[in-house]
Amino acid sequence: PQIAPVVTRIAPSPTGTMHIGTARTALFNWLFARRHGGQFLLRIEDTDRERSTPEATDTIFQGLKWLGLDHDGEAVSQFDQVPRHAEVAHAMLASGHAYRCFSTQEEIETFREAARQAGTTTLFQSPWRDSDPSDHPDTPSVIRLKAPRDGTTIIADAVQGKVTFRNDQLDDMVLLRSDGTPTYMLAVVVDDHDMGVTHVIRGDDHLNNAARQAQIYDAMGWAQPVWAHIPLIHGADGKKLSKRHGATGVEEYAAMGYPAQALRNYLARLGWSHGDDEFFTDEQARAWFDLEGIGRAPARLDLKKLENLSGQHL
Ligand code: GLU
Repeated sequence: PQIAPVVTRIAPSPTGTMHIGTARTALFNWLFARRHGGQFLLRIEDTDRERSTPEATDTIFQGLKWLGLDHDGEAVSQFDQVPRHAEVAHAMLASGHAYRCFSTQEEIETFREAARQAGTTTLFQSPWRDSDPSDHPDTPSVIRLKAPRDGTTIIADAVQGKVTFRNDQLDDMVLLRSDGTPTYMLAVVVDDHDMGVTHVIRGDDHLNNAARQAQIYDAMGWAQPVWAHIPLIHGADGKKLSKRHGATGVEEYAAMGYPAQALRNYLARLGWSHGDDEFFTDEQARAWFDLEGIGRAPARLDLKKLENLSGQHL
């Protein structure tokens, strides 16, 4: 069978520095694409207009450049795709995979409170799910996915294995808000589909999102990408990486004088392994990188190793 060319991406939100975790995600996606002669794409997830800044976008561009991770084609702005996201939400409405929900925030809260007291599921179940879509055509509404109520949604993850989610624990997610803006779930799926992304390699803080995103793929009749959710980087003490463990921004590492090649080598080894090899060249990393080598345990930041590699890569 014809194997589709590999297309990977990173989709950072431009809201601050370029986190070392983002750098590692970028490196894994870049290595995987380059190893398979595929494409590595960049999408700036700038739909949150309040938190996104041009400076943060620039920091991402600079960080990738310093790391030597070239992306193919122009960077895509997610905000530019908003009309397309709305179009897909409306297509799902037309095909009966989504519905207009007129429930107010207050009604949703009342539902949850009643459910809490009755000891039943507090997942909101909209009374509009099975109503006629032409009801109240002029009233603002959100568009919700008509998610399957029974059965399971299974993510066959290249790192985590088979992960099963019960559908009765996933609510009918909002796809389009009443002001016509897309939710994160919808935007990511539409963009990944439109960009032809074949492999979604990202932090495992997105694993639950994958289940929801899979439901959108299925509703649209689109093929799901290969999912690979990488355990997050932790500090030396095993806790989630934060400022108190040391530098978290790529630009800080650059400023401290670490060679980019050493950081690449170090980040490649952070959560991925090739036997016991610690030191390797860029060529070796490109030749060896595979999803099978990504471990399931969180990697721990170890600056001594980075120091060592820096010496070796001089
Ligand atoms: N924008 C998301 C983030 O910065 C990434 C979404 C994704 O990779 O699917 O965490």
